[in-house]
Amino acid sequence: MAVNLLDFDANGLTNWCEQQGEKAFRARQLLRWVHQRGEDDFDAMTDVAKSFREKLKALGGVSPAPTLSDKLSEDGTRKFLFDVGTGNAIETVFIPEADRGTLCISSQAGCALACVFCSTGRQGFNRNLTTAEIIGQLWQANRALRQSATPAWTGERIISNVVMMGMGEPLTNFENLIPALNLMLDDNAYGLSRRRVTVSTSGIVPAIDRLAAACPVALAVSLHAPTDALRDQLVPINRKYPLAALMAACQRYLQYAPRDFITFEYVMLDGVNDSDDAAHALVSLVQDVPCKLNLIPFNPFPNSGFKRSSRERIRRFSEILQQAGIVTTTRKTRGDDIDAACGQLAGQVKDKTKRQLRSIPIVTEHAPRRSAQTSLETHQ
Ligand code: SAH
Ligand code: SF4
Repeated sequence: MAVNLLDFDANGLTNWCEQQGEKAFRARQLLRWVHQRGEDDFDAMTDVAKSFREKLKALGGVSPAPTLSDKLSEDGTRKFLFDVGTGNAIETVFIPEADRGTLCISSQAGCALACVFCSTGRQGFNRNLTTAEIIGQLWQANRALRQSATPAWTGERIISNVVMMGMGEPLTNFENLIPALNLMLDDNAYGLSRRRVTVSTSGIVPAIDRLAAACPVALAVSLHAPTDALRDQLVPINRKYPLAALMAACQRYLQYAPRDFITFEYVMLDGVNDSDDAAHALVSLVQDVPCKLNLIPFNPFPNSGFKRSSRERIRRFSEILQQAGIVTTTRKTRGDDIDAACGQLAGQVKDKTKRQLRSIPIVTEHAPRRSAQTSLETHQ
């Protein structure tokens, strides 16, 4: 099978070059051409020996997943849809802000973890993305953004931050994720600082420890509930890795993390996890972990069965956290006119798990709510 150079980080490419009887420095040259310059034509790589260029052409190529669509939102957010074959498509979102440009990358076609408020989770799971498909999103977006940059691209980084917050759970695709992260950080490739690359996880505890050892980047943990009873329902992986184990993993990660805090994400679901009591319970839960709280107003999608908490509710929830000394921000919803907001990414997934669109059997008896009767069904 032809090799795809996008599948290799620096080590992988060095080994591959050596197998071809080439010197290690060829790997560095190739990385620069492919990732820094966005070049896919071997003939343009003029400082690579002609004989090696011919060999490269014969053996493989630079083959990102092809672009299916590229949509621009009114607020400048740009959503790409890439074809990853066999009827599956993944989404990648670019979010420009005054002081940074963030690319939100997918790690899987679909997601097996089935969080009930997540559009990707509702679609089921098809497969892990390869390293080439993960880094290919950055490669493609970089190229597209440079081409359309106005004024003409001057060589500055348009994408300054990467967040693994697109479709899928990055930490259940560990083997393919790590080389992609290595490329993001590599000075011969994208040269991003560790602090500007964030892995977001729903809480795969053993993989959090593995990430600390293999490639410690900024960590965001999707909490969404302050008690096991409620989190078991919203984020089913909690049944395997409950909150106490997750908080302990966060503490351990901090010894290796490039930042001195963990970001906790918390989706604001009307009448489900947004009460004053829930806010107080959240304060107790996270009090021993240096952290920032990021509240995400729920982004609706068809038949979700949930509603976004009101502005006033989010304000009050945030106030309780802040009064307890927790730095809390509320995420601005961007790109919702093109369904590019958090949790709305749907792509197109041929579900191999044959997941049914289930009704959501949520029991809130133990949830920290004033009315223990409230069930998610009431929001459908
Ligand atoms: N699988 C990883 C990363 C992808 S999701 C994770 O779960 O962390 C990125 C973030 O969007 C997560 O915090 C996720 O819980 C949140 N999210 C999912 N669906 C959402 C929705 N409909 N509205 C708002 N946020 C959502
Ligand atoms: Fe998967 Fe994350 Fe969506 Fe949960 S929130 S289903 S882990 S993508």
